[in-house]
Amino acid sequence: MNDLSKAGLSFSDILKKNVKNGNDTLFWMDAWCKGEPLKDQLPELYQLEKRKRCKISQRVLADGFLWEWKSSPATDEQIHSLQLLYESIGEHRPSSDPDYWSCPLSGDGSFLVEVIRLKLDNTEPATNEVIIPWIHEIPIKVNSFIWRANMGRIPSYIALKRRGVGIPNASCPQCQLEEEDAEHILIRCPVASNVWEPIFKWCDIPKPQFQTIGELIEFVKTWGRCRKRRNNLICIIFGAMWILWKTRCEGVFKVKRTSHFQIIDSVKSVVFTWIRHRRVNCCLS
Ligand SMILES: [Zn+2]
Repeated sequence: MNDLSKAGLSFSDILKKNVKNGNDTLFWMDAWCKGEPLKDQLPELYQLEKRKRCKISQRVLADGFLWEWKSSPATDEQIHSLQLLYESIGEHRPSSDPDYWSCPLSGDGSFLVEVIRLKLDNTEPATNEVIIPWIHEIPIKVNSFIWRANMGRIPSYIALKRRGVGIPNASCPQCQLEEEDAEHILIRCPVASNVWEPIFKWCDIPKPQFQTIGELIEFVKTWGRCRKRRNNLICIIFGAMWILWKTRCEGVFKVKRTSHFQIIDSVKSVVFTWIRHRRVNCCLS
């Protein structure tokens, strides 16, 4: 699988589950809908699911859907995710045939090792691979957000459009200057660039040049000689990206406007909270 990911291929590129009656396919965990497991596409909703390993046939019935939530989707984000879920699986209806695997790379769907070999030989290795530092102080949900953002897999308007969700206007809802993807939200949007300058000033570090999330991560990962100070910087920069995303979502779902002073205050407060609660015997200095 390592060779496959280096070549930019994922498991779902070589083996695809074709869902028929849904008895043999996990609803949240198998990549049966738009090439990625629903648990990764809609993590807010997956958290509410009572039976994480339920089959498709237990959720999608001939005459509708059957949900088993720990608590009903209630927040704006959860309700929005539920709408996305309906749009994603709306077309699927169970049939009487069993589910089966096929290989999208071969013409007739049969799995042949030669086909995979040929594909690997003809594929340029992915060169922009960035290893995300995982630090104890940073909550897992934030670390995995950064990991997904760096791959362009957070639900920006452009990412939703690519997944086939009907987005009439993909312009950034905050500035309208260009179409909204992960790099725009976290790096290029004026809302973000107004935050990066003071954040680096607060850290007493000259602001580096970076055009992408990957370049920013590479900078903080290799900055300085003291591991503790570097980890503090990573917390602050990841915290800033997390708050920028939350601000964007509040703007979209709650039509809430937030000034860059408020964003910077939120970054400081969230980072202090992480370090106070998650690091033992240490302060942010
Ligand atoms: Zn923008």
